[in-house]
Amino acid sequence: MIQLIRGFRDILPGEVELWQKIEREARELLERFGFREIRIPILEKTELFRRSIGEETDIVEKEMYTFADRGGEAVTMRPEATASIVRAYIQHKLYAPDPAKRLYTIGPMFRRERPQKGRYRQFTQIDAEILGVASPLADAELVFLLTSLLRRLAVEDVSAHVNSLGCAACRPSFRLALQEMLAAVSDRLCEDCSRRRVRNPLRVLDCKVPECREALAGAPSILEHLCGDCRRDFDLLRDALESLGVPYVVDPRLVRGLDYYTRATFEIQTGALGAQSAVAGGGRYDRLIAELGGPDLPATGFAIGFDRLAELAALNAPDLRPKPDLFLAALGEPARRAAFAWYCGLGERGVRVAMEFGEKSLKSQLKAADREGAAWVLMVGEDELARGSASLRDMRTKRQREIPLEGLVEKVAAMLCE
Ligand code: AMP
Repeated sequence: MIQLIRGFRDILPGEVELWQKIEREARELLERFGFREIRIPILEKTELFRRSIGEETDIVEKEMYTFADRGGEAVTMRPEATASIVRAYIQHKLYAPDPAKRLYTIGPMFRRERPQKGRYRQFTQIDAEILGVASPLADAELVFLLTSLLRRLAVEDVSAHVNSLGCAACRPSFRLALQEMLAAVSDRLCEDCSRRRVRNPLRVLDCKVPECREALAGAPSILEHLCGDCRRDFDLLRDALESLGVPYVVDPRLVRGLDYYTRATFEIQTGALGAQSAVAGGGRYDRLIAELGGPDLPATGFAIGFDRLAELAALNAPDLRPKPDLFLAALGEPARRAAFAWYCGLGERGVRVAMEFGEKSLKSQLKAADREGAAWVLMVGEDELARGSASLRDMRTKRQREIPLEGLVEKVAAMLCE
């Protein structure tokens, strides 16, 4: 038997209803705040991700599904959505005439990470970006939207972490301080960090290897190196969150695993998912649009890990299994043929229908209707056909009434859809 690929997953009926609900809630919330959907391709030129995410990141170094297509071009299955959204923003000149654009997308991402619970090689993200807006209010809006969505899904045990990564003016002094500190503990760092500590020392800060984390205990804080503008923006973000009543913690270690971030970064973390504590993350990337060949415009965004969010939301979710309004139980071929026409007609008119197509006893059909949670059962056999009416049974009260076959579909649809 051929099984699915390690790190890939099926979302089965029973689970998928919650996914649909999350998607509905997310779309509704984002669209209320003026976000418009954008659909971007799964495959992009490898160069796009190398240049945006950064050469020395885990994603680009080890995790991308990259291959030469049949024409020999290096292509990559998208590991995240921001790079593609920025590409589209530049390519279709979405910045003109008004650069401020709120965009979102929902779809699968691909990273060849070591699979474990909460970490997959194909996973889904809800991605929202505010492009062309410099104000830290945009960052505050994103953090607010994340917490609001979690609240709507009754997710508990989460906290918002925020940090600032500074800008081209102040980050160099922090980098230098960090490099000096890392040089002093270089013999305690893992292989990746030893390699990255000189060229990309910020990446060392989010290394998950316990020895590296210990070695970093005395690392300098970026917040002490912020320039006046970055400090002011960070304070504005914090003020905005406070006035909205969004609880957060300042986490100077929050650097996120991608190179393109500047200034605000944030993450929603939870204690409820074991090792994979990040449910969503994001931040500002004011240089990326220009670096990818577009105009010099700021931007900020987030990505929610849909798989992890669904797992969290499942802890408090009601039973979302869809239940038929009406189960059609027919006995004998002529009755089945009549019932099948009603089944199609009622379904078309908005009734959730179910029907047994095989020759089963009435008892077993009623059992099936009960198992599926049907509210009503319409019973029809030879006798009913002969007397020109079918029996409609309310599964809750067990009371039955007769429905004339003449105009049955319209009558039942009117009754059940009111
Ligand atoms: P990132 O794009 O790395 O900032 O990730 C944003 C969010 O996507 C994370 O907070 C996770 O919830 C989720 N995520 C990232 N990688 C994976 C993965 N391999 N499997 C499942 N979820 C993931």
